[in-house]
Order: sequence, then structure tokens, then C-alpha cells
Amino acid sequence: MKHVFPTYNRFPIDLVEGKGTVVTDKAGKTYLDFTSGIAVCNLGHCPDNVTEALQLQVANIWHTSNLYECALQESVAKLITDGDNKQVFFCNSGTEANEAALKLARKYTGKEKIITFEKSFHGRTFGSMSATGQAKINQGFGGLVPGFTYVPYNNIKAFREELDENTAAVMLEIIQGEGGVIPANAAWLLEVQMLCKKVGALLIIDEVQTGMGRTGTLYGFEQIGLDPDIFTLAKGLGNGLPIGAMVGKVNLSSAFGAGSHGSTFGGNKLALACAKEILLTMKQAGFLEDVNAKADYFRNLLEEDVEVLDNVSAVRGEGFLIGIELENTAEPVVKELRDNGLLILTAGPNVLRILPPLTVSYAEIDQAAHLLKNVLENQLIGSEEG
Ligand SMILES: *Cc1c(COP(=O)(O)O)cnc(C)c1O
Repeated sequence: MKHVFPTYNRFPIDLVEGKGTVVTDKAGKTYLDFTSGIAVCNLGHCPDNVTEALQLQVANIWHTSNLYECALQESVAKLITDGDNKQVFFCNSGTEANEAALKLARKYTGKEKIITFEKSFHGRTFGSMSATGQAKINQGFGGLVPGFTYVPYNNIKAFREELDENTAAVMLEIIQGEGGVIPANAAWLLEVQMLCKKVGALLIIDEVQTGMGRTGTLYGFEQIGLDPDIFTLAKGLGNGLPIGAMVGKVNLSSAFGAGSHGSTFGGNKLALACAKEILLTMKQAGFLEDVNAKADYFRNLLEEDVEVLDNVSAVRGEGFLIGIELENTAEPVVKELRDNGLLILTAGPNVLRILPPLTVSYAEIDQAAHLLKNVLENQLIGSEEG
């Protein structure tokens, strides 16, 4: 590609069709997509009911500004908050959802300091990038937004030392996705929450990757019993239609009155029509139980057949957000799998990141586990011979 900035290292295939877990490239080769975009197409590619909802909306009306009432926004916000005393701000991406969270937290508390964590990822715009605790992402762009400090993840002592009465908010992922599929320790999370309450700092949970069923519950924090002041969604919320949401406790709304924040496209009807159908699907009785059963099945296969290999150091994650840490670099394994018809991702230099659609079948799981085992075994043989 010559006319597009090379901000991404692109795999040399162009996917032109997709249905469920299966995608087809321009040359007609098919692959099992165990990336779901990057945790985006959680219901698989072109799910029938969402496609139909989108087609109906396209035929009715595409865009009205946020200066008008929107019943669709209200119904999606109701599905997201589900009777909790919370409100939603709609935007178009994960980074925007986090920007909204950071702005709301500072405005509400009147404080500036925000604590985030090493190896975190929160997005690419200035606020979210400043919140991101990775030099490779936030260096080289001049001064960052002031007021951010980063402390080691899963370390209560370092957190205690940094947290004080001037802290507006603490922002974290319950599993660091881009950072290497690193799960937070549940006891640590609960203590972070308790300490935030004590000093009046807001707890913001970035659920952009872990949310929308990815870890086996609609939101990842439910599994730990956390009660965040704010959480953010994007990726799986639109299954590929761009949408983000910042969800906050209703008491915060005094700081987000008319004119305080906005977005032209935020809450647009096309993305909202998809989000509504997606949320209704995920809330159907049995949907998440089925996801958990399949994820457990996959995890068992990986533990029995893959984690035992000499070039694999660990299998970790939750639900269908899975990391396989390797002894060596992950990239050659990703390439070999792609050649064999399985798409997966990396998270850092030596972690394979595996994100199948939640709608994946048992047969597809068997196939993927088999390919992973074979390719990793072949790499082992190759490295012994070399
Ligand atoms: C992907 C991601 C983001 C950024 O989302 P964009 O839609 O790319 O802006 C933020 N936080 C987390 C945890 C993510 O995984």
C-alpha cells in the first residue's frame, strides 16, 4: 500500500469476505479468524440478525445530530446500564471513550492527578496516550498531557505510595490486552477499589477489550465484583461498526451538563442499531453460559496439548481473551499459522493473542487447537535441528 501512512505492519493478505469465524482473502484462500478483528467481531463476521438491523437502519435514516432526541440511544444506554444507576456518553472508538472518562473524572473531582499502570494500553489520542504506560506508544510526540503517573500493575505497595488526596482517578484494564494478556490479581483489584474510595479517587475500568462478553461475562469487572465509577466500551460494542461508550455513575452527571463534552458522530444511528442487536443477543438466556462452556473446552485443550510444550511458558487469560507466552518470538508462529489457515495475533514480542468470535463452534476450536499444537511442535523440531 503506497498511499496510506505505514502506521501498521500489515499481514500480506486482504480479507474480502467473512461469515461467522471464516474469512476469505482476495486470492480465495479461507482462514479461521481467531482474531475477531482485534476483539471486535465478537459475534463473528456478518451475523444475520445484526446485518438485518443495520440494513433496516440504512434504509430509514443514517444520521441526525445529537441536538435531537434519540430513542435508539436511550434503549442502548438502558441495555448497557441494565438497571444500574448509570448513564452513558456515546462516541466512536475506545480512545474517545477513555478521553470522555478522563475529562469527566477531572471535571467532577476538580483534581488533576490520574494513576495508570505500566504496560497499560488506553488509546492513541493525547489523553488516552498519556494514560498509556508504554514508552513505545507515547514517546516522540512532544509533551504529554500533564498529571499522569504510572505504577507497576498487580503491586499494592507501589499503588499505595502513589495514591493520595489529589488523585482524581485511577484507570486500569482488568486484563492488560495489548500489554501481553496479563490478568490482574482479584485481591489487588479489590484493594485498589477500596483505597480509591478512601481518598475519593474515581475508579475507571477500561473494558474496551475485555468487555462485550470477551472474558465470559458481559463486562470483565463483574467476575471480580467490582463497582467502577466509570467504565468504557468500544471494540465489540458494534461488531465492526465504529462505536464507543463511556458509562458512569449517575451522580457524576452534574459535571457533564450541556456543552461540556460532545461528538458529531457519537451515538449515530447505524452503529447504535448494531449495538442494540448485539446487546440483545448477548443478554439472551444461555448465550454467555455457552461462551463459557466453549472457552473452558478450548482452555483445557490448550493446557493439555500446548502448555506442556518446551517452547511454551504459560497459557493465561479469561474466556476468549487468551495469551500464550512463548520462549521465543511470536511472529514466526503467527505467520506459520496463517499459512496453515488460522489467524491469530500477538501481544508484545513473545505472546500469542487468541481472540475467537464468541460464536465459534466446537469443531472450529478443535481445528485451531490442533493447528496451534502442530505449528508449535514443528517450531520446536526446527529449533533443535537448527
Ligand atoms: C483497543 C483498545 C483501546 C483503543 O481503542 P480504539 O478504538 O482503537 O481507539 C483502548 N483501550 C483498550 C484496553 C484497548 O484494547
